[in-house]
Amino acid sequence: MFRIASALFAVLCLVDLVLILRQPSPWILVGIVIGWYVADFGSGLVHMLLDYYPSPPQLELDRLYFHPDRGSQAYRDLKAELMSRTNAFHRLVFDFKRHHPWPDGLGRRSMEMLCVDTLYAAGLPGALGVAVLGLSTATPVGILAFLLTMSILATFAQYFHGMLHRAEPPKVVAFLQRLGVLMTPTMHQVHHDHLDRDFAIVSGAANPLLNPIFRALARAGICREENLEPPRTAATAGVPSPDPRPGLARSVAGRDRSSQLTLR
Ligand SMILES: [Zn+2]
Ligand SMILES: [Zn+2]
Repeated sequence: MFRIASALFAVLCLVDLVLILRQPSPWILVGIVIGWYVADFGSGLVHMLLDYYPSPPQLELDRLYFHPDRGSQAYRDLKAELMSRTNAFHRLVFDFKRHHPWPDGLGRRSMEMLCVDTLYAAGLPGALGVAVLGLSTATPVGILAFLLTMSILATFAQYFHGMLHRAEPPKVVAFLQRLGVLMTPTMHQVHHDHLDRDFAIVSGAANPLLNPIFRALARAGICREENLEPPRTAATAGVPSPDPRPGLARSVAGRDRSSQLTLR
């Protein structure tokens, strides 16, 4: 199903491109740049809210988060049981919290796992919308380029995040990171070191705007540090917290440094 949906998305993007390029204009470039910035801003805002959205105590996700042996069969059984009674939104909220102490797992996920939700929620409707709007020449091409850029980047946002935690991302991703179109692992490490800044996961260009927004939300008591972990129940009282800021895998940090050396 994912393959068919991906193929449909690719075809729709091509159709959108043809519709946009039949009216060449500098506004296309303007639309792409604004779309790139807004998608980055959106990625950071969603990331911020999911990091700090509280997990309801009745879901007992603390029993997974603070589990002493994540490699055991007992952990896998408990995960299957608890996840079966957790809805998709709270699974996502938990996933973002769990990502901080165990960041490397994201880099091991497949493209399907990292893109399937955003493809259905943003990619396909967005690309289809651009095609419908593009059939009439009444819609400015800058708007079409903006919407198409947003649809593509929103679809791949969590994939780009995953690639920040992979020692060897695909060459095209590494190239876009070196160009500055996508952020680098070193830039993303600032978020993992502090958890209160630099939430954007596409290019990082929107972080200077997102950081004061976070500080205002924290001051207003909307983003609270205790919500970075699921609330403890009696089952996990006294169990030590995992290190929430373990840093990127050494291999990834090394890759970032070596790519800088190569560029010199
Ligand atoms: Zn985070
Ligand atoms: Zn991360």
